[in-house]
Amino acid sequence: MKKITIAIDGFSSTGKSTIAKQLARELEYIYVDTGAMYRAVTLYAMRKNYINTDNFFVNQLVEDLDKIELTFVYNEKEGYAEMYLNGENVEKEIRTMEVSDFVSKVAAVPEVRYQLVKQQQKMGKGKGVVMDGRDIGTVVFPKAELKLFMTASPEKRAIRRYKELLDKGEKVKYEEVLRNIQNRDYIDSHREDSPLKKAEGAIPIDNSDMGLKEQFERILSLAKRIINA
Ligand code: C5P
Repeated sequence: MKKITIAIDGFSSTGKSTIAKQLARELEYIYVDTGAMYRAVTLYAMRKNYINTDNFFVNQLVEDLDKIELTFVYNEKEGYAEMYLNGENVEKEIRTMEVSDFVSKVAAVPEVRYQLVKQQQKMGKGKGVVMDGRDIGTVVFPKAELKLFMTASPEKRAIRRYKELLDKGEKVKYEEVLRNIQNRDYIDSHREDSPLKKAEGAIPIDNSDMGLKEQFERILSLAKRIINA
């Protein structure tokens, strides 16, 4: 069967990764969570104290880029690949609010983007890939056969994210989560290098009032139409 590239972009906490994982499982494709890669670089920078609430030593991070090894290792039990930073499983640590607070600043650095985009293009070279992020349809795979652009109101997204974080045992306030989402939306869509925007030809999906099952069925049928054409 023909293999295609599926690029899913959109705002934070629009459920991109949930849909991408489901699609990849159904189609037996590789799933690449590019946000996890930016989060892992951010975690590295935080641990080195290159970034904190007062400072961001961009040059030091850029100098270290070739020392940062990112790999995805498939977790049989969970059914998806987890993020490893220099050989350490950081899947849980990269999802904290602290990392979320700094990640958009790190992701705005052109040298960081250059390195990660190169790795992402290599991972998706053979097609049969579902990749989610902010610049997949615009920069990483502008020729992807299926491009989606996911949106939902900031409040709906913040509620979803807030519940997820509570479930994981993080003590956060709803207002804090909403503020983080709004900040990231702003930085991600206003940065100079590869700002978040709908790619040419991308299909917009506003899931503010759409259930997961409905979204999945709709997207799967879009994918199958292209695969079977
Ligand atoms: O997808 P997720 O919310 O985990 O992404 C975290 C952050 O990483 C985003 O807010 C954005 O700043 C950055 N990112 C990016 N380009 C991508 C994926 C994520 O700039 N392709």
